[in-house]
Amino acid sequence: MTKAEYKALNLLLDTPKKIVIVPHHNPDGDAIGSSLGLFHYLKKRNHQVSVVAPNDYPAFLKWLPGTPEVLVYESQAETCADVLAEASLLFALDFNALHRTGVMQSALEQAEATFVLIDHHPQPEAFAQFTYSDVGMSSTCEMIYHFITHLGGLSLLDEATATCLYTGIMTDTGSFKYPSTTSLTHRVVAHLLDCGANHSAIHEAVYDANRTSRLQLLGCALKNLTVLPEYRTAYLSLSQEELKAHDFKKGDTEGFVNYGLSIKDVVFAAIFIENAQEDVIKISLRSKGSFSVNAFSRAHFDGGGHTNAAGGKSDLSLPDTIEKFISILPTYKNALNK
Ligand code: 5GP
Ligand code: MN
Repeated sequence: MTKAEYKALNLLLDTPKKIVIVPHHNPDGDAIGSSLGLFHYLKKRNHQVSVVAPNDYPAFLKWLPGTPEVLVYESQAETCADVLAEASLLFALDFNALHRTGVMQSALEQAEATFVLIDHHPQPEAFAQFTYSDVGMSSTCEMIYHFITHLGGLSLLDEATATCLYTGIMTDTGSFKYPSTTSLTHRVVAHLLDCGANHSAIHEAVYDANRTSRLQLLGCALKNLTVLPEYRTAYLSLSQEELKAHDFKKGDTEGFVNYGLSIKDVVFAAIFIENAQEDVIKISLRSKGSFSVNAFSRAHFDGGGHTNAAGGKSDLSLPDTIEKFISILPTYKNALNK
Protein backbone atom coordinates (compact mmCIF):
# COMPACT_ATOMS: atom_id res chain seq x y z
CA MET A 1 0.00 0.00 0.00
CA THR A 2 1.16 3.52 -0.79
CA LYS A 3 1.69 6.33 1.72
CA ALA A 4 -1.40 8.04 0.31
CA GLU A 5 -3.46 4.88 0.92
CA TYR A 6 -2.28 4.65 4.54
CA LYS A 7 -3.19 8.33 4.92
CA ALA A 8 -6.67 7.70 3.47
CA LEU A 9 -7.15 4.69 5.75
CA ASN A 10 -6.00 6.63 8.79
CA LEU A 11 -8.53 9.33 7.92
CA LEU A 12 -11.27 6.68 7.83
CA LEU A 13 -10.04 5.24 11.14
CA ASP A 14 -9.97 8.66 12.84
CA THR A 15 -13.74 8.55 13.43
CA PRO A 16 -15.55 5.63 15.14
CA LYS A 17 -16.86 3.05 12.69
CA LYS A 18 -18.52 -0.34 12.59
CA ILE A 19 -15.82 -2.70 11.39
CA VAL A 20 -15.86 -6.42 10.57
CA ILE A 21 -12.75 -8.61 10.41
CA VAL A 22 -12.97 -11.86 8.42
CA PRO A 23 -10.40 -14.71 8.38
CA HIS A 24 -10.53 -17.64 5.95
CA HIS A 25 -12.61 -20.84 6.22
CA ASN A 26 -11.12 -23.33 8.72
CA PRO A 27 -9.14 -20.54 10.38
CA ASP A 28 -5.66 -21.43 11.62
CA GLY A 29 -3.39 -19.70 14.14
CA ASP A 30 -2.37 -16.97 11.71
CA ALA A 31 -5.94 -16.28 10.55
CA ILE A 32 -7.40 -16.08 14.08
CA GLY A 33 -4.27 -14.45 15.57
CA SER A 34 -4.24 -11.67 12.96
CA SER A 35 -8.01 -11.14 13.27
CA LEU A 36 -7.92 -10.83 17.06
CA GLY A 37 -4.67 -8.81 17.01
CA LEU A 38 -6.26 -6.25 14.67
CA PHE A 39 -9.49 -6.45 16.69
CA HIS A 40 -7.72 -5.27 19.87
CA TYR A 41 -5.89 -2.47 18.02
CA LEU A 42 -9.07 -1.16 16.36
CA LYS A 43 -10.99 -1.28 19.64
CA LYS A 44 -8.28 0.91 21.17
CA ARG A 45 -9.03 3.36 18.36
CA ASN A 46 -12.65 3.46 19.55
CA HIS A 47 -14.27 1.42 16.80
CA GLN A 48 -17.09 -1.07 17.15
CA VAL A 49 -15.33 -4.22 15.93
CA SER A 50 -16.53 -7.77 15.25
CA VAL A 51 -14.52 -10.78 14.15
CA VAL A 52 -16.67 -13.05 11.98
CA ALA A 53 -15.11 -16.45 11.24
CA PRO A 54 -16.74 -18.48 8.44
CA ASN A 55 -16.72 -21.64 10.59
CA ASP A 56 -15.39 -22.98 13.86
CA TYR A 57 -11.69 -23.26 14.71
CA PRO A 58 -9.56 -25.55 16.90
CA ALA A 59 -9.72 -25.59 20.71
CA PHE A 60 -5.95 -24.97 20.94
CA LEU A 61 -6.63 -21.38 19.77
CA LYS A 62 -9.62 -20.71 22.00
CA TRP A 63 -7.62 -19.19 24.85
CA LEU A 64 -6.54 -16.18 22.74
CA PRO A 65 -7.59 -12.83 24.23
CA GLY A 66 -10.91 -11.83 22.62
CA THR A 67 -12.03 -15.41 21.89
CA PRO A 68 -15.50 -15.03 23.49
CA GLU A 69 -16.26 -12.17 21.10
CA VAL A 70 -15.58 -14.14 17.90
CA LEU A 71 -18.76 -14.76 15.89
CA VAL A 72 -19.04 -17.89 13.73
CA TYR A 73 -21.04 -17.47 10.51
CA GLU A 74 -21.87 -21.15 10.12
CA SER A 75 -23.67 -21.33 13.48
CA GLN A 76 -24.78 -17.67 13.90
CA ALA A 77 -25.72 -16.73 10.33
CA GLU A 78 -28.39 -14.13 11.18
CA THR A 79 -26.34 -12.19 13.72
CA CYS A 80 -23.36 -12.29 11.35
CA ALA A 81 -25.46 -11.10 8.40
CA ASP A 82 -26.64 -8.10 10.48
CA VAL A 83 -23.09 -7.25 11.52
CA LEU A 84 -21.93 -7.47 7.89
CA ALA A 85 -24.80 -5.30 6.65
CA GLU A 86 -23.99 -2.56 9.18
CA ALA A 87 -20.22 -2.51 8.67
CA SER A 88 -18.63 0.36 6.75
CA LEU A 89 -15.15 -1.18 6.81
CA LEU A 90 -14.23 -4.85 6.35
CA PHE A 91 -10.79 -6.40 6.82
CA ALA A 92 -10.13 -9.65 4.92
CA LEU A 93 -7.21 -11.41 6.61
CA ASP A 94 -4.96 -14.33 5.60
CA PHE A 95 -6.78 -15.10 2.33
CA ASN A 96 -6.87 -13.40 -1.05
CA ALA A 97 -9.83 -14.92 -2.91
CA LEU A 98 -13.42 -14.66 -1.70
CA HIS A 99 -14.13 -18.38 -2.25
CA ARG A 100 -11.68 -19.04 0.62
CA THR A 101 -14.40 -17.83 3.01
CA GLY A 102 -16.61 -20.84 2.18
CA VAL A 103 -20.17 -20.27 3.42
CA MET A 104 -19.54 -16.51 3.69
CA GLN A 105 -18.63 -15.97 0.05
CA SER A 106 -21.96 -14.67 -1.23
CA ALA A 107 -22.54 -12.52 1.87
CA LEU A 108 -19.15 -10.90 1.25
CA GLU A 109 -19.89 -10.42 -2.44
CA GLN A 110 -22.99 -8.46 -1.44
CA ALA A 111 -21.40 -6.47 1.40
CA GLU A 112 -21.22 -2.72 0.83
CA ALA A 113 -18.34 -2.03 3.19
CA THR A 114 -14.95 -0.73 2.04
CA PHE A 115 -12.68 -3.79 1.90
CA VAL A 116 -9.09 -3.90 3.16
CA LEU A 117 -7.16 -7.04 2.20
CA ILE A 118 -4.07 -8.03 4.21
CA ASP A 119 -2.50 -11.33 3.15
CA HIS A 120 0.70 -13.20 2.22
CA HIS A 121 -0.58 -15.82 -0.28
CA PRO A 122 0.35 -15.64 -3.99
CA GLN A 123 -1.96 -14.47 -6.79
CA PRO A 124 -4.34 -12.11 -4.96
CA GLU A 125 -7.76 -11.35 -6.44
CA ALA A 126 -8.69 -7.70 -6.86
CA PHE A 127 -11.76 -7.50 -4.61
CA ALA A 128 -10.60 -4.89 -2.09
CA GLN A 129 -10.32 -1.09 -2.24
CA PHE A 130 -7.12 -1.35 -0.20
CA THR A 131 -4.74 -4.28 -0.75
CA TYR A 132 -1.63 -5.03 1.30
CA SER A 133 -0.29 -8.26 -0.25
CA ASP A 134 3.24 -9.54 0.27
CA VAL A 135 4.19 -13.17 -0.46
CA GLY A 136 7.58 -12.58 1.17
CA MET A 137 5.98 -12.18 4.59
CA SER A 138 6.16 -14.95 7.19
CA SER A 139 2.55 -14.51 8.21
CA THR A 140 -0.45 -12.22 8.11
CA CYS A 141 0.24 -11.54 11.80
CA GLU A 142 3.63 -10.06 10.92
CA MET A 143 1.85 -7.94 8.29
CA ILE A 144 -0.65 -6.65 10.88
CA TYR A 145 2.34 -5.47 12.93
CA HIS A 146 3.75 -3.61 9.90
CA PHE A 147 0.28 -2.30 9.05
CA ILE A 148 -0.13 -0.84 12.54
CA THR A 149 3.40 0.60 12.29
CA HIS A 150 2.51 2.35 9.01
CA LEU A 151 -0.63 3.77 10.60
CA GLY A 152 1.58 5.22 13.35
CA GLY A 153 -0.11 3.06 15.97
CA LEU A 154 2.71 1.13 17.63
CA SER A 155 2.13 2.96 20.92
CA LEU A 156 -1.28 1.21 21.09
CA LEU A 157 0.28 -2.28 21.05
CA ASP A 158 -0.70 -3.96 24.30
CA GLU A 159 -0.30 -7.43 25.78
CA ALA A 160 -3.49 -8.76 24.15
CA THR A 161 -2.52 -7.58 20.64
CA ALA A 162 1.07 -8.79 21.09
CA THR A 163 -0.12 -12.22 22.28
CA CYS A 164 -2.44 -12.69 19.29
CA LEU A 165 0.18 -11.57 16.76
CA TYR A 166 2.95 -13.67 18.33
CA THR A 167 0.71 -16.74 18.16
CA GLY A 168 0.08 -16.44 14.42
CA ILE A 169 3.72 -15.72 13.60
CA MET A 170 4.75 -18.76 15.66
CA THR A 171 2.25 -21.14 14.03
CA ASP A 172 2.81 -19.92 10.44
CA THR A 173 6.60 -20.12 10.72
CA GLY A 174 6.65 -23.57 12.36
CA SER A 175 8.03 -21.90 15.49
CA PHE A 176 10.41 -19.68 13.47
CA LYS A 177 12.02 -22.43 11.37
CA TYR A 178 10.55 -21.99 7.88
CA PRO A 179 12.56 -20.03 5.29
CA SER A 180 9.90 -17.28 5.39
CA THR A 181 11.26 -16.31 8.84
CA THR A 182 13.52 -13.28 8.41
CA SER A 183 15.61 -11.08 10.69
CA LEU A 184 12.73 -8.61 10.44
CA THR A 185 10.34 -11.31 11.71
CA HIS A 186 12.60 -11.75 14.73
CA ARG A 187 12.74 -7.97 15.31
CA VAL A 188 8.93 -7.85 15.21
CA VAL A 189 8.73 -10.76 17.63
CA ALA A 190 11.27 -9.13 19.97
CA HIS A 191 9.05 -6.06 20.16
CA LEU A 192 5.97 -8.26 20.76
CA LEU A 193 7.78 -9.80 23.76
CA ASP A 194 8.54 -6.29 25.02
CA CYS A 195 4.82 -5.50 24.72
CA GLY A 196 3.93 -8.41 26.99
CA ALA A 197 3.65 -11.55 24.82
CA ASN A 198 4.77 -14.55 26.90
CA HIS A 199 6.46 -16.80 24.32
CA SER A 200 6.74 -19.82 26.59
CA ALA A 201 3.13 -19.71 27.78
CA ILE A 202 1.89 -19.21 24.20
CA HIS A 203 3.88 -22.18 22.90
CA GLU A 204 2.55 -24.35 25.69
CA ALA A 205 -1.05 -23.24 25.16
CA VAL A 206 -0.87 -24.12 21.45
CA TYR A 207 1.36 -27.20 21.36
CA ASP A 208 1.08 -28.82 24.78
CA ALA A 209 -2.69 -29.03 24.96
CA ASN A 210 -3.03 -32.53 23.46
CA ARG A 211 -5.74 -34.99 24.35
CA THR A 212 -4.48 -38.58 24.61
CA SER A 213 -6.80 -39.56 21.76
CA ARG A 214 -5.17 -36.96 19.51
CA LEU A 215 -1.73 -38.48 20.03
CA GLN A 216 -3.19 -41.92 19.33
CA LEU A 217 -4.72 -40.53 16.13
CA LEU A 218 -1.22 -39.35 15.19
CA GLY A 219 0.03 -42.89 15.86
CA CYS A 220 -2.64 -44.20 13.51
CA ALA A 221 -1.70 -41.71 10.76
CA LEU A 222 1.97 -42.64 11.16
CA LYS A 223 1.11 -46.34 10.80
CA ASN A 224 -0.43 -45.43 7.45
CA LEU A 225 2.74 -43.60 6.35
CA THR A 226 4.00 -44.55 2.90
CA VAL A 227 7.31 -43.37 1.45
CA LEU A 228 8.02 -43.28 -2.28
CA PRO A 229 11.82 -42.76 -2.41
CA GLU A 230 11.83 -42.53 -6.22
CA TYR A 231 9.80 -39.32 -5.93
CA ARG A 232 11.22 -38.17 -2.57
CA THR A 233 7.59 -38.18 -1.46
CA ALA A 234 5.77 -39.39 1.65
CA TYR A 235 2.05 -39.49 2.38
CA LEU A 236 -0.25 -40.29 5.27
CA SER A 237 -3.97 -40.91 5.36
CA LEU A 238 -6.86 -41.09 7.80
CA SER A 239 -10.20 -42.68 6.99
CA GLN A 240 -13.47 -41.67 8.58
CA GLU A 241 -13.47 -44.85 10.71
CA GLU A 242 -9.97 -44.09 11.98
CA LEU A 243 -10.96 -40.53 12.89
CA LYS A 244 -14.07 -41.77 14.67
CA ALA A 245 -12.17 -44.44 16.60
CA HIS A 246 -9.89 -41.72 18.00
CA ASP A 247 -12.57 -39.20 18.99
CA PHE A 248 -11.53 -36.75 16.25
CA LYS A 249 -12.02 -33.05 17.02
CA LYS A 250 -11.42 -30.06 14.76
CA GLY A 251 -7.72 -29.22 14.55
CA ASP A 252 -6.52 -32.67 15.68
CA THR A 253 -4.73 -33.40 12.40
CA GLU A 254 -2.95 -30.03 12.28
CA GLY A 255 0.78 -30.60 11.74
CA PHE A 256 0.54 -34.36 11.01
CA VAL A 257 1.69 -33.84 7.41
CA ASN A 258 4.99 -32.42 8.67
CA TYR A 259 6.05 -35.86 9.92
CA GLY A 260 6.18 -36.97 6.28
CA LEU A 261 8.49 -34.08 5.51
CA SER A 262 10.75 -34.93 8.47
CA ILE A 263 12.02 -38.07 6.72
CA LYS A 264 15.54 -37.73 5.37
CA ASP A 265 15.60 -36.85 1.64
CA VAL A 266 11.81 -36.43 1.43
CA VAL A 267 10.89 -33.07 -0.15
CA PHE A 268 7.14 -33.55 -0.74
CA ALA A 269 4.58 -34.72 1.81
CA ALA A 270 0.82 -35.11 1.75
CA ILE A 271 -1.96 -36.14 4.09
CA PHE A 272 -5.37 -37.31 2.88
CA ILE A 273 -8.21 -36.99 5.37
CA GLU A 274 -11.68 -38.34 4.72
CA ASN A 275 -14.41 -35.86 5.67
CA ALA A 276 -17.70 -37.76 5.60
CA GLN A 277 -19.83 -34.73 6.64
CA GLU A 278 -18.71 -32.71 3.63
CA ASP A 279 -18.32 -35.83 1.45
CA VAL A 280 -14.81 -34.78 0.44
CA ILE A 281 -11.18 -35.79 0.96
CA LYS A 282 -9.26 -32.87 2.49
CA ILE A 283 -5.64 -32.75 1.38
CA SER A 284 -2.70 -30.93 2.98
CA LEU A 285 0.52 -30.65 1.00
CA ARG A 286 3.95 -29.53 2.17
CA SER A 287 7.32 -29.29 0.44
CA LYS A 288 10.93 -28.30 0.96
CA GLY A 289 12.88 -26.20 -1.53
CA SER A 290 11.59 -25.10 -4.90
CA PHE A 291 8.85 -27.69 -5.50
CA SER A 292 5.60 -25.69 -5.50
CA VAL A 293 2.72 -27.44 -3.75
CA ASN A 294 0.64 -24.35 -4.55
CA ALA A 295 1.02 -25.07 -8.29
CA PHE A 296 0.54 -28.83 -7.74
CA SER A 297 -2.67 -28.32 -5.78
CA ARG A 298 -4.08 -25.75 -8.20
CA ALA A 299 -3.38 -28.12 -11.12
CA HIS A 300 -4.78 -31.35 -9.62
CA PHE A 301 -6.70 -30.88 -6.40
CA ASP A 302 -8.80 -27.72 -6.70
CA GLY A 303 -6.76 -25.89 -4.07
CA GLY A 304 -3.81 -23.61 -3.54
CA GLY A 305 -1.71 -21.94 -0.87
CA HIS A 306 1.99 -21.09 -0.67
CA THR A 307 5.00 -22.63 -2.46
CA ASN A 308 5.79 -24.89 0.52
CA ALA A 309 2.35 -25.28 2.15
CA ALA A 310 -0.95 -25.74 0.39
CA GLY A 311 -4.31 -27.41 0.71
CA GLY A 312 -6.76 -28.99 -1.68
CA LYS A 313 -9.63 -31.42 -1.96
CA SER A 314 -10.90 -34.40 -3.93
CA ASP A 315 -14.38 -35.75 -4.64
CA LEU A 316 -13.04 -39.27 -5.23
CA SER A 317 -12.96 -41.95 -2.52
CA LEU A 318 -9.93 -42.07 -0.20
CA PRO A 319 -8.22 -44.98 -2.07
CA ASP A 320 -9.01 -43.41 -5.46
CA THR A 321 -7.64 -40.03 -4.33
CA ILE A 322 -4.39 -41.69 -3.23
CA GLU A 323 -4.24 -43.61 -6.49
CA LYS A 324 -4.71 -40.38 -8.44
CA PHE A 325 -1.95 -38.73 -6.38
CA ILE A 326 0.49 -41.57 -7.09
CA SER A 327 -0.38 -41.59 -10.78
CA ILE A 328 0.49 -37.88 -11.08
CA LEU A 329 3.94 -38.15 -9.48
CA PRO A 330 5.87 -39.42 -12.56
CA THR A 331 5.11 -36.06 -14.26
CA TYR A 332 6.99 -34.33 -11.44
CA LYS A 333 9.87 -36.80 -11.10
CA ASN A 334 12.50 -34.33 -12.33
CA ALA A 335 11.16 -31.44 -10.30
CA LEU A 336 11.18 -33.61 -7.16
CA ASN A 337 14.73 -34.81 -7.73
CA LYS A 338 16.32 -31.39 -8.39
P1 5GP B 1 -3.56 -26.48 5.27
O1 5GP B 1 -2.93 -27.64 4.58
O2 5GP B 1 -2.92 -26.22 6.61
O3 5GP B 1 -5.04 -26.57 5.31
O4 5GP B 1 -3.25 -25.20 4.39
C1 5GP B 1 -1.93 -24.81 4.03
C2 5GP B 1 -1.98 -23.45 3.36
O5 5GP B 1 -2.72 -23.53 2.14
C3 5GP B 1 -2.65 -22.35 4.19
O6 5GP B 1 -1.95 -21.15 3.94
C4 5GP B 1 -4.04 -22.27 3.63
O7 5GP B 1 -4.56 -20.96 3.76
C5 5GP B 1 -3.84 -22.67 2.16
N1 5GP B 1 -4.98 -23.45 1.66
C6 5GP B 1 -5.51 -24.57 2.22
N2 5GP B 1 -6.53 -25.06 1.48
C7 5GP B 1 -6.63 -24.24 0.39
C8 5GP B 1 -7.50 -24.21 -0.75
O8 5GP B 1 -8.38 -25.04 -0.94
N3 5GP B 1 -7.30 -23.18 -1.65
C9 5GP B 1 -6.33 -22.24 -1.47
N4 5GP B 1 -6.21 -21.29 -2.41
N5 5GP B 1 -5.50 -22.24 -0.42
C10 5GP B 1 -5.64 -23.20 0.51
MN1 MN C 1 -1.03 -17.30 7.03
